Amino acid sequence: MTEKADIAVAKFLEHTDAEAASFFDACVRCGECAEACHFFLSTKDPHFTPTYKLEPMRRAYARDKAPFSGLKKAIGLAPKPVTEEELVEWGPLVYDSCNMCGRCTLVCPMGIDIAGTIRKMREGYAAAGLAPEGLERSVEFVKKTSSPMGVTLKALEAQIKHQEKECGIPIEIDKQGADYMAIFSSMEIMGYPEVLGAYAKLFKKAGVSWTISSVAYEATNVGVQIGDGPLAKEIVKRVVDAAEALEVKHVISPECGHAYGAIRWAGPNMMGRQFKFEVVHIIELLDKLRREGKIPPGKKDGRKITLHDPCQIIRRGGLLKEPRSLLDDSCDNFVEMKYAGLTNFCCGGGGGVSANPRAKDLQTKAFSRKMGQLDAIKDLEAIVVPCGNCRTVFEDGLDEYESDYEVLGLSELVAQTLAE
Ligand code: SF4
Ligand code: SF4
Repeated sequence: MTEKADIAVAKFLEHTDAEAASFFDACVRCGECAEACHFFLSTKDPHFTPTYKLEPMRRAYARDKAPFSGLKKAIGLAPKPVTEEELVEWGPLVYDSCNMCGRCTLVCPMGIDIAGTIRKMREGYAAAGLAPEGLERSVEFVKKTSSPMGVTLKALEAQIKHQEKECGIPIEIDKQGADYMAIFSSMEIMGYPEVLGAYAKLFKKAGVSWTISSVAYEATNVGVQIGDGPLAKEIVKRVVDAAEALEVKHVISPECGHAYGAIRWAGPNMMGRQFKFEVVHIIELLDKLRREGKIPPGKKDGRKITLHDPCQIIRRGGLLKEPRSLLDDSCDNFVEMKYAGLTNFCCGGGGGVSANPRAKDLQTKAFSRKMGQLDAIKDLEAIVVPCGNCRTVFEDGLDEYESDYEVLGLSELVAQTLAE
């Protein structure tokens, strides 16, 4: 084995805990997971069968960690060692064709968590320097500026100033003792800054005190995407330290899929302790404020609108009813797409795929599943996409397929349809 293969295999074995080992032993190769994965469905390429993507890690386990592996090695019955060439060949299966969306787990008769195991497998790739260039570049930006797109505090302040002017409401940075501290993805700050104005409008109406930290405004956790545990922890720690220094009671996770899982579910485990504040998703918070009568709905949007459920918010985050309740209040003509909710298809860009230019063509192919869901709705006009990353994937995908549905954020829609 080369040095890179040694490093990757050592990490694979380190991350083959009891759960991963039981998955490797339990897979009966039935192939059911293929029929759930949008990469397989849109290409019919058997390489994209979810369980196949795990093969190098499974082989490393079978050779070096599985029961009787030592004996099997001694009598020449162990599988061959994983080589660097194989790891390079598998790279597109590990990074380009898995959004870590969790749809395959829903159908697996053995309950195998492919997404979680891909996440562990990426630890080996990242440690060996075999992660895709696009994600490596994001890591460099995060190390320099805390943002995977290189968004500096100065750039954030400029966006805030512009939104303050637009909505006529001040947005305070580093407000000590605020009830809520909001974090945003770089994609929202630069691509959809109106979300800042929407928060200002909604929270003013609700009488909610909130702030943005000057040192921890970024929600994106590129450590989770690339498979770098220490970096993922560092990114979570930055937010935790800032929130605890400002003594806020809650941190608001934004309209971003993986950021929610990273800070809310994985975050306390990474830090090894409970936080001194509660993490809430913006959709949960708006739904709560709506039910408390603090952000009453006004004139509804009359267009025919559907909802895309971002995987990490619905399947791994459980927010099913809340966005629907907000949409029922905000739209006259809200319709569900086929496979809405838990079984919704990923847009194709999650899990770091959209930050990986090598995966662009495959991502576009995978988006054809989404196009099918959208085009099946007669006279559809707009789609609410409550994740900044999914939103860009939708905009690109709709362009590629020459479709002109409008793409909207949920917070902006709720703010636009708020009672005067
Ligand atoms: S987690 Fe999603 S993208 Fe990855 S293999 Fe499973 S269905 Fe496919
Ligand atoms: S559905 Fe589950 S058991 Fe069947 S091949 Fe896929 S991972 Fe293995």
